[in-house]
Amino acid sequence: MTDKTTIHELDEDTVARIAAGEVVERPASAVKELVENSLDAGAESVDVTVEEGGTELIRVADDGRGMTEADVRAAVRQHTTSKIEGLEDLESGVGTLGFRGEALHTIGSVSRLTIRSRPRDGDDAGTELVFEGGDVVSVEPTGCPEGTIVEVADLFYNTPARRKFLKTTATEFAHVNRVVTRYALANPDVAVSLTHDGREVFATTGQGDLQAALLSVYGREVASSMIPVEADGDDLPPGPLESASGLVSHPETNRSSREYVATYVNGRAVTSDAIREGIMGAYGTQLGSDRYPFVVCFLDVPGDAVDVNVHPRKREVRFDDDDAVRRQVDAAVERALLDHGLLRSGAPRG
Ligand code: ADP
Ligand code: MG
Repeated sequence: MTDKTTIHELDEDTVARIAAGEVVERPASAVKELVENSLDAGAESVDVTVEEGGTELIRVADDGRGMTEADVRAAVRQHTTSKIEGLEDLESGVGTLGFRGEALHTIGSVSRLTIRSRPRDGDDAGTELVFEGGDVVSVEPTGCPEGTIVEVADLFYNTPARRKFLKTTATEFAHVNRVVTRYALANPDVAVSLTHDGREVFATTGQGDLQAALLSVYGREVASSMIPVEADGDDLPPGPLESASGLVSHPETNRSSREYVATYVNGRAVTSDAIREGIMGAYGTQLGSDRYPFVVCFLDVPGDAVDVNVHPRKREVRFDDDDAVRRQVDAAVERALLDHGLLRSGAPRG
């Protein structure tokens, strides 16, 4: 008998990189965290620039409240956040998008991360912090505009297995595009732009109008075919849904991919089978098989009626009563289509 064991503790670096893979799956996941941080910082403009689908470079620049040197140093440490104090805050529901306090540290442990930040109203000049593979490389004063610019270069440079799993530039960029699009549509009062390999893909004005944001993102043809959905209280059949609002497209404006069905619950971009089925039910046979409308739909439900933890990354949600939600969404969208003469009433429904 021997007391030797093959079980051993992993070193800190390895643990950090494994954890990183759980949060940062691909460039789009990093983009999501950075854009959420910018929105949480009260930005009025968020400019996202990526190169090679985000695999070479991701840059998110905002005009939010910015950070002091001490803030920047703290921000890249593990489990640091300015957004909650403890578990009670988690349970009471937080108003901010991110709250786990791990995004920057995690992204920085699998990339070369540079943060330049300057607080909005203070006399701090600005700070540049370079973080590589989980370590602070340098912190220096720098001249920079108020707000924050985060650059993520060479994502997964130190996790070759992960890097190998990246798809083509086109595919990775499609994921990035979808993430930025969802935030742009959900925040029409923020000017959001996306640039890929030097080409501007879209830029919203931040004037606060969903229709205008949608025009900037999807173009005139789609924007001109959208009709409003607006239902609450007595308009809805019984169920947890308190209100539904947004825009849905004329049935003839459709695509073969679900990616243009953007749904939000209590302000968060989510996917849900019940919501999607409700929408598709309303269109019935007006859409061909495997065709999907353009949708931007905001739903409000009491926090305790929804389970957001089904899949933390994919943001899939379930409701206590999925059937009721399906019926309510169906009714809200059907009403909008009927009001605009886009459904024959009594037409066969799929
Ligand atoms: P979390 O967002 O969960 O708090 P992060 O690692 O994403 O964790 O960010 C850590 C902290 O860094 C945030 O709580 C915030 O105080 C600060 N921070 C990050 N990004 C920005 C930004 N763009 N503008 C201002 N502060 C930021
Ligand atoms: Mg965050």
